[in-house]
Amino acid sequence: MEPRTDGAECGVQVFCRIRPLNKTEEKNADRFLPKFPSEDSISLGGKVFVFDKVFKPNTTQEQVYKGAAYHIVQDVLSGYNGTVFAYGQTSSGKTHTMEGVIGDGNLSGIIPRIVADIFNHIYNMDENLQFHIKVSYYEIYNEKIRDLLDPEKVNLSIHEDKNRVPYVKGATERFVGGPEEVLQAIEDGKSNRMVAVTNMNEHSSRSHSVFLITVKQEHQTTKKQLTGKLYLVDLAGSEKVSKTGAQGAVLEEAKNINKSLTALGIVISALAEGTKSHVPYRDSKLTRILQESLGGNSRTTVIICASPSHFNEAETKSTLLFGQRAK
Ligand code: ADP
Ligand code: MG
Repeated sequence: MEPRTDGAECGVQVFCRIRPLNKTEEKNADRFLPKFPSEDSISLGGKVFVFDKVFKPNTTQEQVYKGAAYHIVQDVLSGYNGTVFAYGQTSSGKTHTMEGVIGDGNLSGIIPRIVADIFNHIYNMDENLQFHIKVSYYEIYNEKIRDLLDPEKVNLSIHEDKNRVPYVKGATERFVGGPEEVLQAIEDGKSNRMVAVTNMNEHSSRSHSVFLITVKQEHQTTKKQLTGKLYLVDLAGSEKVSKTGAQGAVLEEAKNINKSLTALGIVISALAEGTKSHVPYRDSKLTRILQESLGGNSRTTVIICASPSHFNEAETKSTLLFGQRAK
């Protein structure tokens, strides 16, 4: 890919979102711990963590979108790749942030808002540009890639194209002509996922879900082509699985989650530090797939999600440290 010339900031941006206390926490008279010394910092247990921006519990879905993700639409339409991750323990608000309530004007999350904006931009662009937009949707569970748009495909493998860019071979690519078709693809993927598992909450806390939007544009007269790829990733829960008691399949799952989240942390820290060599992309399926959309000319956005409660303090601290290492 050619170097960026538009002066936009690439690299890694890290945002922090703290959800409100939930019903259980309130019922247990759990305490609200964090303090917010400024717009871009959060303090927990006397330690201050600084991010690109910190979203307090009362921040709306629209404010999170505008603050953390809005600019990505322009990137994709300019032919750049990007990745947005939600990282955090189970119930910290990752899915709320990425998806939210699809179809609800106020509560819809980043994915539906990005989709709507991509199409809005396209409708207003040069008539000589022809757009082809497609989506893929899969999950990585136990280092196995399962297509959520085709339940038959349960173990997809990663290949490299002629430019040595890794991709998931055989993953369904669905062409979409408008935002409602993208939302339909998400709904289809979610129901396929639901059918295959017994406990959806448990399952989603142990798998990464990856939604990929590819925007290709071609100029009708010059035939010039431009392609931008955007990965939107709802990560597996980052909570530590206690080693005592976990055995067999559960232990194996926990090891795989740890392995991929650790690999991701190392890759992102390396990118944030500007390390070019020995970025260990090959250590997990997730980092391998994302290789071309992390670093380089790509923009990486990490949204760490956390609970404010005293009960979750240790996990919240570990989430904040993960985010800090990515800066
Ligand atoms: P995760 O995907 O990290 O496991 P969820 O996004 O499913 O967590 O959030 C857990 C619950 O908390 C959901 O019921 C969700 O609607 C609610 N929730 C999460 N974040 C917020 C928020 N910022 N404001 C209001 N409710 C939230
Ligand atoms: Mg979730």
